[in-house]
Amino acid sequence: MKNILVFGGAGYIGSHTTYHLKTMGYNPIVADNLIYGHKESIPKGVSFEKVDLASPSQLEALFKKYKFDAVIHFAAFAYVGESVKEPAKYYRNNVVGTINLLDAMLAVNVKNIVFSSTCATYGEPEYTPIDETHPQNPINPYGQSKLMIEKVFADYERAYGLRWIALRYFNAAGAAFGIGESHNPETHLIPLVLRSIMGGGAINVFGTDYGTPDGTCIRDYIHVLDLANAHRLAIEKLGDFTGALNLGTGVGTSVKEIIAVSEKVSGKKCPVNWAARRDGDPARLFATSGKAREALGWIPEKNIEEIISDAWAWENERKF
Ligand code: UDP
Repeated sequence: MKNILVFGGAGYIGSHTTYHLKTMGYNPIVADNLIYGHKESIPKGVSFEKVDLASPSQLEALFKKYKFDAVIHFAAFAYVGESVKEPAKYYRNNVVGTINLLDAMLAVNVKNIVFSSTCATYGEPEYTPIDETHPQNPINPYGQSKLMIEKVFADYERAYGLRWIALRYFNAAGAAFGIGESHNPETHLIPLVLRSIMGGGAINVFGTDYGTPDGTCIRDYIHVLDLANAHRLAIEKLGDFTGALNLGTGVGTSVKEIIAVSEKVSGKKCPVNWAARRDGDPARLFATSGKAREALGWIPEKNIEEIISDAWAWENERKF
């Protein structure tokens, strides 16, 4: 498999995966509507097509222009809070858009897809670490939209022979290749902590009374480069394995620990505002990813210090 369509390849995880694929000798082709993506984050020499999942005719033209061996699908709206306020936007783009993409693929007999899913498909954890058999009861339309697509894939596999792998990410972070995380608005903890350290005002720590050792929430932060590597391995395993895999490190890190590591990496103090809990935040979310190790031979390599020091380098040099 050489020609890989990276849909959403101008976004955070998509652009890192595009760089990684190129480095590994693949020919990635990026499609993106550039609503949230950055054209600057697409590597030089990689073909780019401005395409929106809402347009079946644009999709048809894309699949006529190139002969793709496989598709990696990152293109989704991913703001949990917004999904609660505007579910129609999320179901239209994330669900209907993916069905449009599948239609265009199947029309030209492209049957290989790797999909960005999320730990948000599990909802409130019933136990941790979360494995792939944990019940899936999403608590917001964003998680719901991703779960719906996993179900569509299973049906398309039975009916049309689709080969698919859904990767359920935990907390993506870090940077590589001279690009990094650049969301607008930014809601994620690590970039916000680093910006506070750089003089952007105090970080709001949402909740200090959780039932965790230091009272703050625990998450499983995973380096974007480890995620990129998992996507490449998944491309190589399509056909041998079908289904969903967790991508996490199995190591939980609290909000206070993130702040402490960020202070160590930067050598500066982080101003903190101890704030109230944010709605919908479970106390603990971390994964077992033994299944991904088994199915893909994937082993995450970067620890939290490396994640934060790469993110810190990006925050200091950011170009977009
Ligand atoms: N968080 C925080 N302040 C912020 C942003 C996030 O205390 O400004 C906490 C949030 O409550 C959660 C953790 O940091 O416990 C990670 O949040 P993030 O939004 O990065 O990812 P999520 O786990 O919600 O997908």
